[in-house]
Amino acid sequence: MASTGSNSTALKRALIFLGPPGAGKGTQAKVVAEVHKLPHLSTGDMLRDHVGRGTQLGLQARPIMERGELVPDEIVLAMVEERIARADCSAGFVLDGFPRTIPQARGLDALLVRRGFGSALVLHIAVAYEDLVRRLTGRRTCKVCGEIYNVYNRAPRVDGKCDKDGGELLQRADDREEVIRERIANYDRQTRPLIDYYRGQSTLVDIDGAADAESVNRAVLAVLARL
Ligand code: AMP
Repeated sequence: MASTGSNSTALKRALIFLGPPGAGKGTQAKVVAEVHKLPHLSTGDMLRDHVGRGTQLGLQARPIMERGELVPDEIVLAMVEERIARADCSAGFVLDGFPRTIPQARGLDALLVRRGFGSALVLHIAVAYEDLVRRLTGRRTCKVCGEIYNVYNRAPRVDGKCDKDGGELLQRADDREEVIRERIANYDRQTRPLIDYYRGQSTLVDIDGAADAESVNRAVLAVLARL
């Protein structure tokens, strides 16, 4: 995906991508992490990795994720705390899918203070609900590199294969329509209140996520370049 040519200096802060499932948080977070040379921390990816490896945490998280519900705050917070403590996060990091509840946001605030970071910058990507179900049912992810496609509006050149490395494109187990509806309902109930939480701290920027990924990406990088 094209960058705006914005510089690649580290931002020295925590960036949070906030928005409903299917808003494009993962796609945008990946590009920003690449351009600004920061680690991309997706709690969904971390949890799927645990599920794939069959760890204790993975066994606990799997049924919850399959139902489209949220994994308990203590588990996710501990996972993030451990990850943020690693050396590669010292200059900043990009959070994708975390925090998702008020207790997680409060926990993150405390973590950031402990690690000497200022307040996080929150990029809130807003997308109309009608579009979310279509985006999620069409989503496919490369098994090898994690690149995200969409059969409706960002199809790979060869059906079922990643443009970058030819890896097999998979559909996530929780991208089925009935689970999607549950995830969106949970977003409304548990995650949407974070918009007001962060707006109250004046660290939230609204991004219109309705356009294609490249246009949204230009808007996101422009916001960061102004900082
Ligand atoms: P995602 O890849 O961000 O859509 O996350 C996939 C699933 O992982 C979610 O539906 C939740 O079950 C779980 N999950 C990911 N991040 C969190 C979080 N911050 N808190 C609780 N559950 C999470």
